[in-house]
Amino acid sequence: MTRLVLILGDQLSPNLSALEEADKSSDVIVMAEVHGEADSPKHHPQKIALIFSAMRKFAARLEGDGWDVRYARLDDRDNAQSISGELLRRAEETGANEVIATTPGDHRLIAMLDEHPLKITRLPDTRFIATHEEFATWADGRKELRMEYFYREMRRKTGILMDGDDPAGGKWNFDHDNRKPASNDLFREAPPMFPPDETTKEVIALVEKEFSDHFGTLDTFGWPTTHEDAERAADHFFEHRLECFGDYQDAMLRGDPFLYHSILSSALNIGLLDPLELCKKAEEAYRSGNAPINAVEGFIRQILGWREYVRGLWAFEGPGYTERNILRYDRKLPWLYWGGETNMACLSEAVNHTKEYAYSHHIQRLMVTGNFALLAGVDPAEVHEWYLSVYVDAFEWVEAPNTIGMSQFADGGIIASKPYVSSANYIDKMSDFCETCHYSAKAKTGEGACPFNLLYWHFIDRHSQRFGNNPRMGNVLATWRRMDAEKKKTILDEATRVLEALDDGETV
Ligand code: FAD
Repeated sequence: MTRLVLILGDQLSPNLSALEEADKSSDVIVMAEVHGEADSPKHHPQKIALIFSAMRKFAARLEGDGWDVRYARLDDRDNAQSISGELLRRAEETGANEVIATTPGDHRLIAMLDEHPLKITRLPDTRFIATHEEFATWADGRKELRMEYFYREMRRKTGILMDGDDPAGGKWNFDHDNRKPASNDLFREAPPMFPPDETTKEVIALVEKEFSDHFGTLDTFGWPTTHEDAERAADHFFEHRLECFGDYQDAMLRGDPFLYHSILSSALNIGLLDPLELCKKAEEAYRSGNAPINAVEGFIRQILGWREYVRGLWAFEGPGYTERNILRYDRKLPWLYWGGETNMACLSEAVNHTKEYAYSHHIQRLMVTGNFALLAGVDPAEVHEWYLSVYVDAFEWVEAPNTIGMSQFADGGIIASKPYVSSANYIDKMSDFCETCHYSAKAKTGEGACPFNLLYWHFIDRHSQRFGNNPRMGNVLATWRRMDAEKKKTILDEATRVLEALDDGETV
């Protein structure tokens, strides 16, 4: 009896559980480019082009391996334009009434499969290092679900960067060494770009035509779209950029969205790379003396720690997580996030990188765009939708915990032990953005005062009760309390004017 084997656009791995369960001689693979996914939300054109191109190439590979692949291109006349509809169409076409699927990383799609009229066998996604059960067992009964402790479990489980029972280098975490600012004369080896081949060019033309109203450009498209190119990108990183990854992990520079970051998240998240393999290669670089421990541990912590932790948490917290809004914020996302004019050099830079590359690195996401949205009191659901749509690597399981939890504190502190907020001082220290900015990072109030300085204290003031017992907020709250009453009033009045300007659509 024929069964359908569903492969989604972020499930392009030869070892996918659905493929391992399927029978090449009788089962039929279903893959589909559909408006229903590309438009909800309106994803960045580079993300759509990456996924469609990688899907087409993976489908061709599977066909070459002898699979019967029923692939719907976006502009195929009979395309049902939804995953659910495509399953029904292919079921009718082949006579199948059963589907094998690997669990999607999006609660909406999981619900769709669970409610589908066809019989669905939903298998765990085994392309991660931790299972959902392992996370749940670890989380069970803990008062706090801190990433650091989960990460240590993962180090012990895999033996990565372990010397017997002890962490290699004598410490679990070298984060303190990883906070160097960079200057623009620092030599940076550019990451490799993969110019569009014929398949990608064809997809780009389709995306240009069908999604012309989506935020973002296609001109700089250079993402790896095959397993081979993704391996090349990873090898290049290990050879040329891992060494400095740690030192400049938090640094930001004008005109450089990448610095020493690996730019591997999109390939990892759609299944072109294996997370454990990357960790092993990074460890190899340390063991052979090619990269220092702070760089290697920092990189491994992002993958073995953060990536696995947020995925576990996303499943553990369940579908309601994206609606969390503990601070009860309801401000609309300012237009500047969609490329509207702004006088703030840091926001302009981060949004421009996003528009041009569908990428900005972690600190820009967290301490520039995320920080500003949190200080301004933007509705976290709007912030979530923005991050989910504009980044090439954004899928709910990884984007939502990072946005709702880490960046917007909307989950009340499950992920972050304190809100990631800062005044202009942090951005000034870690970047060269402020050098050319209309505002002054040093000016706390008055003409030219950076909005980050004003909104920061406004945030502290409006949440002084909530964070009164948080030991990590003690110093800052004490500084606010001690501040001269007249000065406080000036700050709060000026901050209110910034918020009103945002609401009125004025340039900030
Ligand atoms: P590197 O800095 O080189 O890190 C190496 C790898 O570690 C990344 O490729 C990624 O797989 C993993 N990693 C690093 N940090 C995290 C993290 N916090 N959570 C999970 N994995 C991590 N990452 C996504 O993959 N998809 C998203 O949609 C996403 N949304 C984010 C939203 C916000 C508000 C924030 C603050 C962070 C978000 N991140 C997301 C995490 C992180 O910013 C990206 O993984 C990283 O910028 C990807 O670039 P890179 O490959 O150069 O990463």
